[in-house]
Amino acid sequence: MKEDILHNLEIINDRIRKACEKAGRSRDEVRLLLATKTVSAERIKTALENGYTLIAENKVQELKEKYEGLKDTPHENHFIGHLQTNKIKDILKYDVVCVQSLDRPDLAEKLHQRLLSEGKTIDVLIQVNTSGEESKFGVHPEEAVELTRKVAEFTTLKIKGLMTIGLFSAETEKVRKCFKILKDLQQEIISQNIPNVEMKELSMGMSGDLETAIEEGATIVRVGTAVFVARVYPDSYYWNEKV
Ligand SMILES: *Cc1c(COP(=O)(O)O)cnc(C)c1O
Repeated sequence: MKEDILHNLEIINDRIRKACEKAGRSRDEVRLLLATKTVSAERIKTALENGYTLIAENKVQELKEKYEGLKDTPHENHFIGHLQTNKIKDILKYDVVCVQSLDRPDLAEKLHQRLLSEGKTIDVLIQVNTSGEESKFGVHPEEAVELTRKVAEFTTLKIKGLMTIGLFSAETEKVRKCFKILKDLQQEIISQNIPNVEMKELSMGMSGDLETAIEEGATIVRVGTAVFVARVYPDSYYWNEKV
């Protein structure tokens, strides 16, 4: 079990290295984030103890369940799932340092209010729906600049870049289009020089499409299945949560 994870991590690392080489990018421009949904704290620890310390959950419930088991092993926690406003205080309680899935003004406002009252700040990425699929969360590309402007007004929210889940397709060029949309948006936002906005990070690419994402400029690739092997639930359980 443990050997499987380490072996898989080596393979992923190799894929990232090769993709960077091919794209003429330096390997240290791309961080590997482990998407740990359904993975036990014990298995996550195997990765953490071997230097893979950037992890992310989709559900607050799982974050909570694994917190005790992971809190003494150094790591960096991001959040990549649909965030309900009534779960904001948990996100802060369980040491999430970056919400990658900020996709609407009311969430930004509530997050800001809570952070103010706790005297904290948090990193955020604006999640964009680049595939046009209704099942996916994220702001529509045409509304992304406006949302970025709004979020930038909240002093506790440190915008670091953009995040997207690309189209699920075996057709690489269709997937690439999604990543290009995110990259173009990044450039557009940079050109507008909005105060309190950094646009360094592009979180895109997963187990199946990380090479394409790296070619298009990803700085964070989010990998789950390829490291921890098959999951029990279908993706729709995580991406189309009805509240
Ligand atoms: C599960 C998940 C990933 C990782 O997907 P895999 O195909 O398992 O690599 C990346 N991003 C988000 C938002 C996810 O929910």
